[in-house]
Amino acid sequence: MNREKKVLPLIPLRGITIFPNMVIHFDVGREKSIAALEEAMLNNQQIFLATQKDAKIEEPVKEDIYEVGTLSTIKQLLKLPGDTIRVLVEGTNRGKILSLTNGEEFFTVEAEIYIEDEEQEVSEKVSLELEALTRSLKDDFSDYLNLSGNTSADIILSLDEIENSARLADVVASYLLLKQEVRQELLECFDVKKRLEKLLVIVKNEIEVLKIEKKIGYKVKKKMDKLQKEYYLREQMKIIQEELGEDDEDRKEVEAYESKIKKLKLPKEAKERALYELSRLKSSGSYSSEGNVIRTYLDLLLELPWNKQTKDAVDIKKAREILQEDHYGLEDVKERIIEYLSVRKVSNTLKGPIICLVGPPGVGKTSIARSVARALNRNFVRMSLGGVRDEAEIRGHRRTYVGAIPGRIVNGMKQAKSMNPLFLLDEIDKMANDFKGDPADALLEVLDAEQNSTFRDNYLEIEMDLSNVMFLTTANSLDTIPRPLLDRMEVIEVSGYTYEEKYHIVKKYLIPKQLGEHGIKNNEIKITDNSIKCIIEGYTRESGVRSLERKIGSIIRKAIKEMMEKEKASVLVTPPVVEKYLGAKVFNYDKVDKEDKVGVVTGMAWTAYGGDTLPVEVMVMDGTGKLELTGQLGDVMKESARAGYTYVRANAKKLNIDGDFYKSKDIHIHVPEGAVPKDGPSAGVTMITALVSALSEKKVKSNVAMTGEITLTGRVLPIGGLKEKSLAAYRAGIDTVIVPKENEKDISKIPQSIKGKLNFILAEKVDTVLENALVGADNNED
Ligand code: ADP
Repeated sequence: MNREKKVLPLIPLRGITIFPNMVIHFDVGREKSIAALEEAMLNNQQIFLATQKDAKIEEPVKEDIYEVGTLSTIKQLLKLPGDTIRVLVEGTNRGKILSLTNGEEFFTVEAEIYIEDEEQEVSEKVSLELEALTRSLKDDFSDYLNLSGNTSADIILSLDEIENSARLADVVASYLLLKQEVRQELLECFDVKKRLEKLLVIVKNEIEVLKIEKKIGYKVKKKMDKLQKEYYLREQMKIIQEELGEDDEDRKEVEAYESKIKKLKLPKEAKERALYELSRLKSSGSYSSEGNVIRTYLDLLLELPWNKQTKDAVDIKKAREILQEDHYGLEDVKERIIEYLSVRKVSNTLKGPIICLVGPPGVGKTSIARSVARALNRNFVRMSLGGVRDEAEIRGHRRTYVGAIPGRIVNGMKQAKSMNPLFLLDEIDKMANDFKGDPADALLEVLDAEQNSTFRDNYLEIEMDLSNVMFLTTANSLDTIPRPLLDRMEVIEVSGYTYEEKYHIVKKYLIPKQLGEHGIKNNEIKITDNSIKCIIEGYTRESGVRSLERKIGSIIRKAIKEMMEKEKASVLVTPPVVEKYLGAKVFNYDKVDKEDKVGVVTGMAWTAYGGDTLPVEVMVMDGTGKLELTGQLGDVMKESARAGYTYVRANAKKLNIDGDFYKSKDIHIHVPEGAVPKDGPSAGVTMITALVSALSEKKVKSNVAMTGEITLTGRVLPIGGLKEKSLAAYRAGIDTVIVPKENEKDISKIPQSIKGKLNFILAEKVDTVLENALVGADNNED
């Protein structure tokens, strides 16, 4: 490398470093610097540029200026407004200041100028090293340019053209955005190899920094984008809501829920759930469909009587009084209930069997349950299980289903308004089951005192304590109650009423009740005793008193109408008035044929609606031995008819019947009122009697009714519901009833008023039945 000494004017630079081969412009304002420029213009346009150590110093002295600077050529001068000159220079060589003179007009330096030889003589090793470094630097630098986004083609092109390593180093150094000190350091580095090495490190470093910056930048940008979008949407929503006047409503609604939750003393789980749902409501916006679902749920949750209990009154004496007050008769039912309550009082728990009141409709099962609730000072809820066939109806649907609703138990508790109501499960025998699960299973859990303290409804999803609920159930018949449920219940039978009982119930309870409901005073409408009898006999035919109550109600309404229209102060309801109000009598109790007939027998049946008489008719015709059964008979009844047929065929001789009838006669058994389905085995004796009568052509006594299951050997088996059946037979004007011997014990349960008027014949064998039913078959015929 050659050196050459030169005396040159100097401009101290502020904040910039100039490398050889670099073209740059800067503004010159200081007087001394302008003078130095002028001097240079006179002297080959050559000037020495060295950087000030501290850019802030206005009038630097020797020590304030770096020793190493650049010999440069002035390319252009441009006068700017104000005494500033913009100068374009090109750095040519590095130079070291040997001495500096701070002259009056400008600085002058004597500097040693280094001239880098284009074709330097270097050893092969050094040359290879230089080549390697140069290539690396080129590669890295173009990476750097790419990363920094500065990809202007001319730099990259010019990079490719630079062969000389020293020049490359300076070009790269001038492009990099480096700190003042580092730039100076690079300038002061006279050795090309070292300069390249330094630069390589710097470039690699810069690349890393750029990469990290880029990464951060990307993340920040992503975040910013998301935030910005959300912010934008929210603002938009706010404005829309404001326009619609909803924003305020939403807030008020949420606040209302909050204060409700605070006020209610909810159990922990329920409270947490309520707050969680509320937070969801806030974020979903109440006009979304999700908002609606949440609101419905919250309303239910907050409406349930979580911590409310009524205080039990367990005064047995008072309970008895209340039961007496509300109901006529039903002595044994009342007695059993008092017994049940006493046991509960002593043991102070609700564990144990659950009462099931079984009986025909309208006999006061619901109203007894209501009275029990009144006696115990418990709230009363009633839930009908009729037709429930899906477990979800008891236990609710999961909220994942669209339109999910809570189960009936939870709904009942909402109505109950206390956690210890009396909960009546009505018509437990009318539950069905299908593929969606058995509701009886869910009900078992509800009724089981061991499990029901943690009952969990699928919709509510929070445990609910049902252990303080007193459950009561009702059913019309025991046959269809699922066995496991029946095992947990204490069955109390409520049977139908006799004519006298009905009379008293109407007089003492139903008339005052109906008058009260219509706001009529006792003396304004009077219904005579004969009228009451007329209504019971002529217009109702039921075990209970439900339609009786309806008839009374409609009589009272008609009477009120008459009072209004004819401006009467009072109405006396006599039997003709009853007929005027209700139309002609519907039932005629003398309806059973008073004539003895062949092949027609009155049976006694027990339906879900109480007892009834059930005529059986048999016709015999010449034919080929066909047996036809009509009248909507159930399977059991059909089988019972076939069993009767077989018995008659087997005993034809004894019964004085032509033994070939099964070949030569067609037999048709019909049970009238064909639209009403009938079933059960208790018509067995009736079928046999009708068959024998028809085949032997002996008449059947019209005053006799019968009931009893049969075996093929002719035994008569016991049946259920004797009391109901006897009441029905009596109502139908029968005076003799043939019943199975084994039912003898049940006769004592029949009220004396009926018992006294019926002649009971106990039969162990079919023979006894036939003897007493067929005209001319017995010896004591009247
Ligand atoms: P169920 O539940 O057995 O079908 P309800 O309890 O609905 O019958 O009774 C029907 C109506 O008959 C009610 O108004 C009830 O008060 C009345 N009732 C039934 N039995 C009696 C009775 N023994 N004394 C007074 N009223 C009765």
